[in-house]
Amino acid sequence: MLLRFSLEADLIFNAAIPPEAEPVIEEKVTEANTVLFLRGVPRDAAEGEYGQITSWDVQENRLCLRIESGPYTRSHDALLRFRKQIAPVMGKLRLGVRGIDIRHFSIRLGDDVEESCIPRLPFISSVEVDEAGCELTLAMDLADLENKTPDRLINLIEEKAENAAYGGKGEHWELLFESKKRTGAYSGNPTEDMVARGWIRHGASRGQWIFAPQAVQLVRALEQIAIEEIIRPLGWKEMIFPKLVTWDVWKNSGHAKGVYPEIYYVCTPKSRDPAYWEEVTDYYKVTGDVPIEMIRDRIDGPIGGMCYAQCPPFWPFVKGETLAQDCLPIRVFDRSGTSHRYESGGIHGIERVDEFHRIEVLWLGTKEQTIAVADELHEAYARVFEEILELEWRRAKVTPWFMAQEGLVGVSETERVGTTDYEAYLPYNGSYLEFQNVSINGNKYPKGFNVKVQSGEECWSGCSGIGLERWVAAFLGQKGFDMADWPENVARLVGEPEEVFRFL
Ligand code: ATP
Ligand code: ZN
Ligand code: MG
Repeated sequence: MLLRFSLEADLIFNAAIPPEAEPVIEEKVTEANTVLFLRGVPRDAAEGEYGQITSWDVQENRLCLRIESGPYTRSHDALLRFRKQIAPVMGKLRLGVRGIDIRHFSIRLGDDVEESCIPRLPFISSVEVDEAGCELTLAMDLADLENKTPDRLINLIEEKAENAAYGGKGEHWELLFESKKRTGAYSGNPTEDMVARGWIRHGASRGQWIFAPQAVQLVRALEQIAIEEIIRPLGWKEMIFPKLVTWDVWKNSGHAKGVYPEIYYVCTPKSRDPAYWEEVTDYYKVTGDVPIEMIRDRIDGPIGGMCYAQCPPFWPFVKGETLAQDCLPIRVFDRSGTSHRYESGGIHGIERVDEFHRIEVLWLGTKEQTIAVADELHEAYARVFEEILELEWRRAKVTPWFMAQEGLVGVSETERVGTTDYEAYLPYNGSYLEFQNVSINGNKYPKGFNVKVQSGEECWSGCSGIGLERWVAAFLGQKGFDMADWPENVARLVGEPEEVFRFL
């Protein structure tokens, strides 16, 4: 990607710059162009690829600079380095830098970047497209430059360009294991049949179910199998993770980069004074309608959202810590509450819901430990699906395209980073359903939450989400409702369905 930065900025001093300062400035500009700006630049970089002060001029108390660059020592970076370099010499002349005024800042991109890859952001005041590519004029101040906003903007444009090049293919799918076929007598739709039997009914909210005792018997039996056959024997200990997740957690976990379309947002009242809410309560009492707009005016936030992925809100527990060698690998799990996703048009039966129940298994340690734990877990899952639940299932490695393209797959260091999906065959629609996954997340979370291990090695982590609705759909979808067809142990754990309700 062709990349050129052009910056005009004034260093503002506390007093007029005297003529005797000019030779000093000239000397420092030359030094910057020939030494300072070359630091960190690859040896084979051509002239013009790294930052240069191409002209300067004194106007009263301002030192007006023009800085041009390619991808190295970018103009904004050069400006900040130069400020640091010139400050002490000007200080000797009793001149102090009081501020920096950005007069003009633009970025030129080559014609390999489609206009659709340029984000719409308040910092981008104009985009001009021509034969050679396009030119972005930026409205950024000093704080934005110090915050590395221009570099993040370039990264974002590169990311969008790459995504566009791979045509929105979400992930790369590779089969790792396939169980034997197991054809049973049942090929119905388990959701419809559960509804017909009074095991579940729609909740008041979209994508939400109310589980009657018969359904809960099955859910809890499957949960018990997961916990007693897999989780506890392998040494996992239970924790309780929060279910309301704030932005700072999602910033550290990386979810803040993209989770917005699927969040159930959470807001707090601006005041808990009943008088502040009286108009709302009065309106409701008189009309019978809840006045959404009046409420919107009286709430803050959103401060975050409901649990989406289950593990991010665990991480503040270890944030900033160094873990002692003798407690590693750490293995914990959470089953303390619901997860919520706005699945929009995608909601489907109990398989794809907006409110679901999941056991989240999480582990962390060194790289070797993290990989070894994942392997143990895979083995235990395979045993349960083969010998206890007797499912027709398969396992596939799914790699997001950006990772495949970055060459992260197959490189020995990182080949194990990524997600393995477990999928079950659903006879009623002839498709496979992802019912759980196992992810080795590498150093992503430890880095995001600044967690270290005692040995000084890189800290890695993994997690596995066991979706209970998906286990139910997989099990019932294959085994049906005649308990005589179920594996005996499962039938015994579930027991005879208990009917509590009879409707007239
Ligand atoms: P899908 O591709 O089916 O949307 P996902 O890739 O979004 O799944 P993950 O983010 O990997 O799912 O979540 C881990 C697990 O959580 C899934 O394997 C599944 O068991 C469960 N899960 C995720 N979304 C839902 C949902 N909408 N309804 C029920 N279970 C879900
Ligand atoms: Zn997780
Ligand atoms: Mg999904």
